Amino acid sequence: MSIALVDCNNFYVSCERVFNPRLREQPVVVLSNNDGCVVARSPEVKALGIKMGVPLFKIRSLVEQHQIITLSSNYTLYGDMSMRVMDTLRQFTDQVEVYSIDEAFLELAESFPNPEAYCQEVRQRVLQWTGIPISVGVSLTKTLAKLANQQAKRTESGVFILPEREIEPLLKITPIEDIWGIGRSWAKILRINCISTAWELRNAPDGLIKKELGVVGLRIAWELRGLVCSPLERKVSPKKTLTVSRSFGRPITSYQEMREAIAVYTGRAAQKLRRLHLAAGAIVVFLQTGRYNPNYYGRSQKVVLPVTTNYTPELTHHALLGLQEIFVPDLPYKKAGVIFLGLISEDIQQLHLWETRDREREERLMESLDRINGAMGRDTLNLAIAPPRPNWAMKSLSCSPRYTTCWQELPVAIAGCQE
Ligand SMILES: [Mg+2]
Repeated sequence: MSIALVDCNNFYVSCERVFNPRLREQPVVVLSNNDGCVVARSPEVKALGIKMGVPLFKIRSLVEQHQIITLSSNYTLYGDMSMRVMDTLRQFTDQVEVYSIDEAFLELAESFPNPEAYCQEVRQRVLQWTGIPISVGVSLTKTLAKLANQQAKRTESGVFILPEREIEPLLKITPIEDIWGIGRSWAKILRINCISTAWELRNAPDGLIKKELGVVGLRIAWELRGLVCSPLERKVSPKKTLTVSRSFGRPITSYQEMREAIAVYTGRAAQKLRRLHLAAGAIVVFLQTGRYNPNYYGRSQKVVLPVTTNYTPELTHHALLGLQEIFVPDLPYKKAGVIFLGLISEDIQQLHLWETRDREREERLMESLDRINGAMGRDTLNLAIAPPRPNWAMKSLSCSPRYTTCWQELPVAIAGCQE
């Protein structure tokens, strides 16, 4: 059996390029929430030496000099495109583990006659159906497939099958930092123990690895030896928590505005909850000032709900009670959010002993709310406390349209003159 790792190339940039061909072959970066840091780079930008995660202000001069196009992140678009890529992969096999928004592991059967041709076909079809270029690396285990994928990225064909005889030379030139699951602190520990390449880790004594990195580290070493320690996980474990949080476009100091923010975030989280047919048992409300503020203040408050619910007015009411407990006026808050806990299926809601509310009516009201907002735009209808375009909202100055999920923002094809 072999494992293939499919990884979308420069995923966010590629999503943008599908719908905006002007971005092709141009240097493009996508910025994090609030347009702060670089979270995706086109190959042209990588070639300029711009690193992942750098704040935009640090590369201002490079951006100007090379006319780099900067885009705000459009997670609605990336999430939808990711689903399309994963659906295309499932056309080939049901042995798919979606590992992240742009990565998936596929299991290839032992009897596979020509894995190279198969992977090329996967690559071609994903490109044709979604417009997203991918790289495929194949080897015996997930850890080795990750390394094979790094090689695939460097080849023209975009596919790299790591044959057993080439594992040794590859591991010998792979620094431990490049191994999946070895973070900076583990790399440091290993280097102290004179282990600096993947090959040295593979051959290190089990006792030493277990002592220094525990059983998780040992599994990595075994996977480098070709033993599968982390098989494909196909079942998506049910969601246990749901978070909506954002940084503000400018600091919030007033209680009134903070109430608006918490109401907006609770409303969004509640809508997600209903889409998943779940209800929450408790809410955590949190807020914080800037991390580098010398008088940093950050607090959270948990509120247990009387009954599990996904009804926006009820959730908002309790979230605001939580906010009351932790809000200190006149601090420059940078970020706030809500986390829903104790999620269970909405069908098994326990009612309160002295239940006097008409739950069915509330359900119908939420259905209408979601339907109207789905058809006419996210904040068409909302609680009065949640303003539709708050002036504290996150900065997102150059966000592309939601091409694939919003009727008003579909790409427009302009027909040429035909004579
Ligand atoms: Mg990627």
